[in-house]
Amino acid sequence: MGIRFFNTLTRTIAEFEPLVPAAARIYTCGPTVYDYAHIGNFRAYVFEDLLRRYLQFRGYRVTQVMNLTDVDDKTIRSARQEGMSLNEFTARYKRAFFEDLETLNIERVEFYPAATEHVGDMIALIETLIRKGHAYVSGEGSVYFDISSFPNYGRLSRVDTSGLKAGARVVHDEYGKQDVADFALWKAWDEADGDVSWESPWGRGRPGWHIECSAMSMKYLGETFDIHTGGIDNIFPHHENEIAQSEAATGKPFVRYWLHCAHLIVEGQKMSKSLGNFYTLRDLLRRGYSGREVRFVLIGTHYRQSLNFTLASLDAARNALARIDDTRRRLQELAYRRIGPGADQTSKRLVSRAEERFVHGLDDDLNVAPALAALFDLLRDVNRALDRNAITSDGASLLESFLTKLDRVWGFLEVESQEQPDQEVRALVQERERQRGQKNWAEADKIRDRLLKMGWIVQDTPDGPHLRRAK
Ligand code: AMP
Ligand code: ZN
Repeated sequence: MGIRFFNTLTRTIAEFEPLVPAAARIYTCGPTVYDYAHIGNFRAYVFEDLLRRYLQFRGYRVTQVMNLTDVDDKTIRSARQEGMSLNEFTARYKRAFFEDLETLNIERVEFYPAATEHVGDMIALIETLIRKGHAYVSGEGSVYFDISSFPNYGRLSRVDTSGLKAGARVVHDEYGKQDVADFALWKAWDEADGDVSWESPWGRGRPGWHIECSAMSMKYLGETFDIHTGGIDNIFPHHENEIAQSEAATGKPFVRYWLHCAHLIVEGQKMSKSLGNFYTLRDLLRRGYSGREVRFVLIGTHYRQSLNFTLASLDAARNALARIDDTRRRLQELAYRRIGPGADQTSKRLVSRAEERFVHGLDDDLNVAPALAALFDLLRDVNRALDRNAITSDGASLLESFLTKLDRVWGFLEVESQEQPDQEVRALVQERERQRGQKNWAEADKIRDRLLKMGWIVQDTPDGPHLRRAK
């Protein structure tokens, strides 16, 4: 059996079968660039990064698109408050967003289309919807999607459309289930938009938020693609509206698998800008935490469970990561000696069991708990085997490269900037060992002093020389 996902559309877990074998086309709702993203947002992006990395690990060629919402109600309002042009204002937060991705070791996806650069595609899609009778122009030059023209409306969110009033409309980008109504595809310019507007067949205006994701996803991934992701707050109205717009226009199924992550919460409430109960990544860095620690916390709870965020969980992450680093340091020192006659049986057995448990866990709808348990059990067993000298130098190399391989998915295993000795240093260590073998102690000490001048301390241990960087 291969990878299985919980599909919000069907509310069941099913095997992942992409349209094209061994390829996965994914669309991910990205940030609205009007402020620094908070770690609730990053919970969603880290989940999507895990999804991407795991599909790659399992041999899929991933094409992923994440949009940047750089025009909507919020960006326009905030840019005006700051007295900046929309572009200037959003550029600042786009830059910050990419810095934050790097801090969290989130892999770059293939495309980051910005809404403002795709207004033409959105206008073309709206024209199709009008032509096919799914949208209409209102008096002031806005365009609305007619949800009564799309019988499948509500299938994803299971929202009740029975009490729907004909012709009721909602102009805001964000609204609740109680406001189910025709929604804006295009908004005629008004005062609040300032100098933000584009020409269109319906006059000056700007696109609504929902049409952006339909236009850009289909442009880069085709009319039907494999996976669409976001947080559960995106299910209604955003994703419901995306389905309506896309399927009404093409007559084809839009997305095969809808994956949504649960919220990151603080004291029982969703972390959000509007509640003011948020930490940005930068807030946490200022408190002395690292991106690696934050990533560890965000990835460590299954994506469909609420993640209750506390600073204590970051402290626990620090301890867990220190354990990883200690074990890896031991393995690296042993691997570096390169004396063994091949990998020992213990190492081989530990690797194959850990890999099996890792795959078994993550195949099951990205179930991280058993996959992480496999990792920490491995580290415990490795330490015990190292204590008993049961691991050869080649065994240590095998374990080390296995951890590097796992890190293509986890992204938190790498020890930050571990300096390795260069060729010259290694040759001197070998020469010193040779002199010691011939009991030329004075010569051996001379080499040790030379190494110290070069910034390396040699420690002689029962199982050979250990090298450490001098402070
Ligand atoms: P926004 O910038 O509000 O459109 O949100 C960007 C992404 O973050 C969307 O996928 C949201 O569903 C997600 N998101 C927002 N708040 C949270 C939260 N507290 N926990 C998890 N995901 C969130
Ligand atoms: Zn979206």
